[in-house]
Amino acid sequence: MKTHYITILFAAAILFAAARMITAADHASLETVSAAESLSRLKEGNERFVRHRPTHPDQSKERVGALANSQHPFAVVLSCSDSRVPPEVVFDQGLGDLFIVRVAGNTLNDAVLGSVEYAVEHLGSRLVLVMGHEKCGAVQAAMSGHQEGGHIPSIVKAIEPIVKEARSQPGDPVHNAVALNARSVAGHLRDSALLNKRVAAGTVEVISAVYNLESGTVQFDSGGGPVGNIGSATKPKT
Ligand SMILES: [Zn+2]
Repeated sequence: MKTHYITILFAAAILFAAARMITAADHASLETVSAAESLSRLKEGNERFVRHRPTHPDQSKERVGALANSQHPFAVVLSCSDSRVPPEVVFDQGLGDLFIVRVAGNTLNDAVLGSVEYAVEHLGSRLVLVMGHEKCGAVQAAMSGHQEGGHIPSIVKAIEPIVKEARSQPGDPVHNAVALNARSVAGHLRDSALLNKRVAAGTVEVISAVYNLESGTVQFDSGGGPVGNIGSATKPKT
């Protein structure tokens, strides 16, 4: 009888150990890249791009196959739709590296916010970058006050609140508005309930940057560190 109990205890111990191994394996497969490491990868990739020394990583046939069933992009990039600012190119990244949301003026709406939240919640991305760019047409349209047709006003309206603030600052007002808009959108993303708890816990960072069309350089706000919720661009309805 005693032997029987020992056998049961032994079997239970093996099952427990197996369960622990499976959990560890799951965590390993979901292992994510830290925000700091993600930022380093973006900076290094942009440097390669600026120096015209891109390595075009992660575009092999093997990479295609490896990503067939899952993805773990190391960063989320919200950028403008402008044809001159493709994130994979300016950061020299490949398949499965970046979860990208592009919309004119890198503005926020519910679908954009939901897309960013999805990547953080389900794909394990820990760095969110909002990237504006110099001479952004959407920002210039918001500053011009010109009445646009169709659905274009929805984009312009999202940027208008920061125009006055940008004009009150020294320097080029369009540059100021581009930087403020990106910083403001980053602030609103940081405020979303789903992202905020991770930002507060230090597991996710939301930062902003401005891309220079002439040099190809991405200038990260405050050296890539977190920035305050500056500006008051329209929040999405949540
Ligand atoms: Zn733009």
